[in-house]
Amino acid sequence: MAELEALPGSTRPAEPPPVVELVDVWRSFAGPPPVDALRGVDLRLDRGEYLAIVGPSGSGKSTMLHVLGLLDRPSAGIYRLEGVDVSQMSEAQRSGLRGHRIGFVFQAFHLLPTRSLIDNVLLPLIYQGVPRRGRRDRAVQALERVHLGHRLDANPLTLSGGERQRVAVARALVSEPSLLLADEPTGNLDQRNAAGVLDLFDELHAAGISIAIITHDDAVSRRAQRLVRITDGRVSAG
Ligand code: ADP
Ligand code: MG
Repeated sequence: MAELEALPGSTRPAEPPPVVELVDVWRSFAGPPPVDALRGVDLRLDRGEYLAIVGPSGSGKSTMLHVLGLLDRPSAGIYRLEGVDVSQMSEAQRSGLRGHRIGFVFQAFHLLPTRSLIDNVLLPLIYQGVPRRGRRDRAVQALERVHLGHRLDANPLTLSGGERQRVAVARALVSEPSLLLADEPTGNLDQRNAAGVLDLFDELHAAGISIAIITHDDAVSRRAQRLVRITDGRVSAG
């Protein structure tokens, strides 16, 4: 391939960098008592991959989510997001990246109960300063993507739990992030609603979206393409 790239006139595009690359990442809390919640984590997520990160309570999952989502910084080590070292960036740079490049889905859906689905989904675009004219179209597309295009003006309180989580997924996708980061996304759902949300993640994966899902639930992690385990702050292949 190196030779191919050297050929004059070659149009082969450069290999895209991984979406996520953690290199020997530590996250230590001073305490007392002092805790090393992440201990030398190496992790790579390639573009379009669907990764589950599983581990028991206290293993470091939330710490990992906060680091990956740019809500917290490693104490040591490097985090590259799409090839860019974000470990040393200013808070302003990191929060800008967080809004544009990371889509969060949480266990509790965190929808605004007094606003329509479309208002909930276009809210991130208001924060990002996207002009009004483009916002609505993008929110409609995001809601269509989660099969709720026929409920644009519904109130979230009239939806099932599974539908609410699909709205939260639409809101996460409306900024076209590089990484969809989900924290126990089926934790508040019964089996049938959970299955619907997991089917949606399969569809998004098939459409090329990069997904990292943090869970302690085997039924969830089984659906991912690749699994890593986190135990006492260390990551190992599942
Ligand atoms: P999990 O989400 O897998 O349950 P966490 O990432 O929340 O695990 O926690 C991992 C370890 O780090 C635990 O021992 C926890 O007590 C400790 N920890 C997490 N956050 C803090 C904090 N802000 N201050 C001190 N210790 C913390
Ligand atoms: Mg946790």
